[in-house]
Amino acid sequence: MSRIPMIAGNWKMNTTVEDAVRLVTTMLPNLDKVSGIDKVVCPPFVSLAAVKEIIEGSTIKLGAQDVFYKEKGAFTGEISPGMLAGLCEYVIIGHSERRQYFGDNEEIIDMKIKAAMESMLKPIFCVGESLEENEAGRTEEVLTRQCMASCDRLYFFGGIVIAYEPVWAIGTGKSATSEQANKTIGFIRQLIRHRHSGEIADNVRILYGGSVTAANIAELMKMPEIDGALVGGASLKHDDFLSIAQQASEIRGVS
Ligand code: PEP
Repeated sequence: MSRIPMIAGNWKMNTTVEDAVRLVTTMLPNLDKVSGIDKVVCPPFVSLAAVKEIIEGSTIKLGAQDVFYKEKGAFTGEISPGMLAGLCEYVIIGHSERRQYFGDNEEIIDMKIKAAMESMLKPIFCVGESLEENEAGRTEEVLTRQCMASCDRLYFFGGIVIAYEPVWAIGTGKSATSEQANKTIGFIRQLIRHRHSGEIADNVRILYGGSVTAANIAELMKMPEIDGALVGGASLKHDDFLSIAQQASEIRGVS
C-alpha cells in the first residue's frame, strides 16, 4: 500500500484573475519540480481557465472549490459538474464554510459528490467537528455522521480524497496537534474499514486541514495516518506553499 500524499491549496474567495495568474506563474517553476506527491491548486471558478492554461503540461493539478449537483437549467449563479469536467480534475465538496454559510447539509453534499463523480471529477470531501462539538467530546459521533451519511457508498468508485478539517482550526492559527490529527484520521480510516473494506480504507487518502503552515507541516507528515494537507491561508503565499509541498515530498514522497 502506498498512498500518494497530496498537498492541496484552497484559495477560497481570494485573488482576481490577474492575481491568480500571477500567483500560479510565480509558484510554477519550483512547485513543478516537487516530486512524489500530488500538488493541487483550487482557485476561484473565474480563474480556473486562466490557471489551467498556465499549468498545462506541468505536474500541478487543478481543483474547484465547490460544484452544484444539477447538470443544467434554471439555477442562477451555479456551476455544474459538466462545466468543470473539462477544466479541472478535483473539486472540494462539503467545506465547513459551505456548510456554515451556504446551507450545504449532508443530503446536498451527498448529491454534489455523486454528481461530481458521475462527471469524472475527484471530490476532496471535507469533514470536521466544531469547537463546541469537540469540547463536548462529540468528535467521533460527528465524523461518523458526516462520513457515513455522505458518500456512504462512494468509496467504491475510487478517486475520492477526504479532508479532516476541525472547524476550530480553520483560519484560526490554532492547528490540531499532529497526534490529535493522526488519531482522528485513524478513526475515520477505521470507520471506512468497518463499513466497507480494509482495502478501501488502506487506499483512501485522508488529508488534514486547519492552519497548516510551513512550520507545522513536517510534524503532520511524519504521522502515518495523515496523507497530506488541505491548505487555506498559507496556499496564497507562493514560498510558504512551496515549502509545505517540499517538506511533504521529503518526508513522505513516493518514488
Ligand atoms: C481551508 O480553507 O480548508 C483551511 C484549512 O484553511 P486554513 O489553512 O487557512 O486554516
